[in-house]
Amino acid sequence: CTAAHADAAVDAAGAAAGAWRRAPAGERAGLLFRAAQELRQRRDRIAALECFEAGKPWDQADADVAEAIDFCEYYGRELLRLDAGAAVLVQSPAGEANRLTYQGKGVTAVIAPWNFPLAIPCGMTVAALAAGNPVILKPAEQTPAVAWELARALVAAGAPPGVFQLLPGLGEDVGARLVAHPDVAVIAFTGSRAVGLEINRVAATPQPGQRHLKKVVCELGGKNALIIDDDADPDQAVPAAAYSAFGYAGQKCSAASRLIVLDRVYDAIVDRLVACSREMLLGHPATAGVQVGPVIDAEAHDRVRRYVADAPRQGTILLGDQAVPDTGWFVAPTIVAVDDPAAPVATEEIFGPVLTVLRARDFDHALELANGTDYALTAGLFSRSPAHLRQAAAELRAGNVYLNRHITGAVVGRQPFGGYGMSGIGSKAGGPDYLHQLLDPRVSTENTLRQGFAPD
Ligand code: NAD
Repeated sequence: CTAAHADAAVDAAGAAAGAWRRAPAGERAGLLFRAAQELRQRRDRIAALECFEAGKPWDQADADVAEAIDFCEYYGRELLRLDAGAAVLVQSPAGEANRLTYQGKGVTAVIAPWNFPLAIPCGMTVAALAAGNPVILKPAEQTPAVAWELARALVAAGAPPGVFQLLPGLGEDVGARLVAHPDVAVIAFTGSRAVGLEINRVAATPQPGQRHLKKVVCELGGKNALIIDDDADPDQAVPAAAYSAFGYAGQKCSAASRLIVLDRVYDAIVDRLVACSREMLLGHPATAGVQVGPVIDAEAHDRVRRYVADAPRQGTILLGDQAVPDTGWFVAPTIVAVDDPAAPVATEEIFGPVLTVLRARDFDHALELANGTDYALTAGLFSRSPAHLRQAAAELRAGNVYLNRHITGAVVGRQPFGGYGMSGIGSKAGGPDYLHQLLDPRVSTENTLRQGFAPD
């Protein structure tokens, strides 16, 4: 699609907006519940497509489809909860009837990344639909076929014309046009920091004819730290660190990209981590048991390889010489030990299978290192000290803090997901605050001490 298609889609969405906003909550929630059912019926097919199109290993592809189904069911239930409960949230003394209601903000542009090619576009889309907003989905260039499956499921579930539209195309063309369009009220974006900042900048400038301030929900990247304390169980911590760093070739926004190890156990942990990571099964994602597939495309391969090539100037490469197939964009899991926490490999999001290891003098130093980033997405700690676990929960600067477990794999409704700082300005996907961002709250107040009635 092109920018001209984006204009036509916004017109069609605008025409459908009023009826969808006024549709009863039960009707909108019903669409989501039926979409969940449609996705459930396509579960294996979509997982296969993710494996083919995004290089996702089977188990992770299946988890992505399951998460999308969860989003449909969760936001459908959230809408019913909001609809039932809003009226009782405000006081109505005698003689005055107050009512708080929520109303969809309007046409919503959903702009999605490729790395969770179903769950993320699906979550943003169905939340906006639940809120009563027509949606135009611009999927990532790399994964349009998975987005097409989502569109098929929504249409089969009964999404009315104009209420949901799929617009595959280039970000700088279709995406940029949607962001700037005066009739787009909400932009729900998940992706890189650079694009997120640009979207915020453009959306903040009203266009001629625009009647609203645009709401931007932005979920961005991370430079996530996992701390291993000196009393942690290595049998638990080491495999979890390797999985958090290298699962799906490190291409999760939640992936561990900095490992901070307490001085007293540093050598033992790092030795075991190198051995464990070397054993991770790397290969074609369709092969059962593969944990590390290729990175998404040639551009990503070049970027990650550049970081790896530059790493010896910043630290010591402890792992990275494993053989990789030459039939795809493979990068071997790479571990780099650095002394300088300000080194680029320790501060920039690489979005590939590269883990930086830092040594901490003591626990306070470990927290200081972990928090030494402008991102604030995920973080974690392995420890057997209750005091350290409490301190980490309170002080780690991250939207999602994981204690004594891997730091990826948030589940809808259990670990509402999202960051702050430079990791985004959104409110927790899969959590109770999410729909509020897409709604305008309105209060009506009626003086019920009437002076008689006029006949209707
Ligand atoms: P990206 O920013 O390159 O692209 C994301 C989307 O933005 C794509 O659909 C793209 O076409 C579009 N786009 C590009 N330029 C645009 C523009 N000028 N205007 C409007 N749209 C534009 O990101 P990506 O490579 O697809 O995804 C990886 C990034 O996403 C990583 O930084 C990762 O951490 C982040 N991410 C964050 C979360 C989270 O929940 N916080 C989840 C997944 C991924």
